[in-house]
Amino acid sequence: MPPETSTKMMNDKFYPIAQPSITEKEHANVESALKSGWISSLGSYVNDFEKRFAEFCGAAHGIAVSNGTVGLHLALRSLGVGKGDDVIVPDLSFIATANAVLMAGATPVFCDIDRETLCIDPAQIAVKITPRTKAIMPVHIYGHPADMDAINALARDKDLKVIEDAAEAHGAEMRGRRVGALGDCGVFSFYANKNLTTGEGGMITTNDARLAERLRLLRDHAMSKTRRYWHEEVGYNYRLTNIQAAIGCAQLDRAEFLLDRKKEIFAWYQEGLASTPNVVVNRTAPWAKNAYWLVCLELRDGDEMRRDRFMQALRSRGIDSRPYFYPMSDMPYFQGANTPVAHEVAKIGVNLPTYVDLRRDDVDYICSEIGVAVAQV
Ligand SMILES: *Cc1c(COP(=O)(O)O)cnc(C)c1O
Repeated sequence: MPPETSTKMMNDKFYPIAQPSITEKEHANVESALKSGWISSLGSYVNDFEKRFAEFCGAAHGIAVSNGTVGLHLALRSLGVGKGDDVIVPDLSFIATANAVLMAGATPVFCDIDRETLCIDPAQIAVKITPRTKAIMPVHIYGHPADMDAINALARDKDLKVIEDAAEAHGAEMRGRRVGALGDCGVFSFYANKNLTTGEGGMITTNDARLAERLRLLRDHAMSKTRRYWHEEVGYNYRLTNIQAAIGCAQLDRAEFLLDRKKEIFAWYQEGLASTPNVVVNRTAPWAKNAYWLVCLELRDGDEMRRDRFMQALRSRGIDSRPYFYPMSDMPYFQGANTPVAHEVAKIGVNLPTYVDLRRDDVDYICSEIGVAVAQV
């Protein structure tokens, strides 16, 4: 915490959306990894990180990977998803969700979302399932878990694979169970702005021992276990380094603290914005525990131009914000999709500064400036 942070400095400060929380623990672990000489993907931090992160999720196995995007690709490939297959994804997500499906040679089918949780709407999934459908890839968006019970019921019925894109939701819970092993597997990201970080990095979690073995094989060029430098099929180098895992272990030591802080920061925003008209923040389903990756704010009577003016007004007050993701189906290399809810919220939503070092007076300041900006635009 910078010592100069005080109320009188507020107007000179710039509040980013996110910033990593790095302490002496992370520094010490990195130093220790460097000193050990194990700086590529062998080393005790990688094993510890995999084991401990799996435990954190209540999963039996953890497979560390270079980032979340390749984690999604590896998961699809390892589950046998490929050419000619459709994968149902929510239209509102970071583009990596859809791109990973393309990387696997399959086709993303864009599904609409629930207006409140912003996660894929199970009722809409049911309509999209065809004989080509091979998998469903729900996203726990902005920290809110998708309704995995409903999704698993659909998948069981039609014999579909389920991959959780949990890149934004470390520690989120659905009906008391942490995300990550609620479907066939879960995929996490440890990018610098995520709830836990390793700089770049990712993890796949699963309860399926055979799938775990297949993930490990394909992560490492599919090299034969019994015959070195023999490869029965095409694999990848999707490994995480011991240096990155060293950071991850330190973050795991602090995970409950980091998650508690996110919850607290959201509560401050909720309180600070309670009387601001026509503004809503994250809604959480009664069965869900939100990991609050990012605070969400929607201008309920707004449109895209008003939202963009609002973001400009905040920026001029030293507060960064970012728009919700565009519906992925709107990208020029896709053919569009009939997803009215995703299209509606994408135009009126922004994410606000949500990082662990924010203090109550920072959030109070941001909320009061939001009140001024909303009235102006
Ligand atoms: C961040 C993110 C990813 C990709 O993770 P990287 O580690 O950046 O590759 C995938 N899906 C979602 C929903 C994300 O937010």
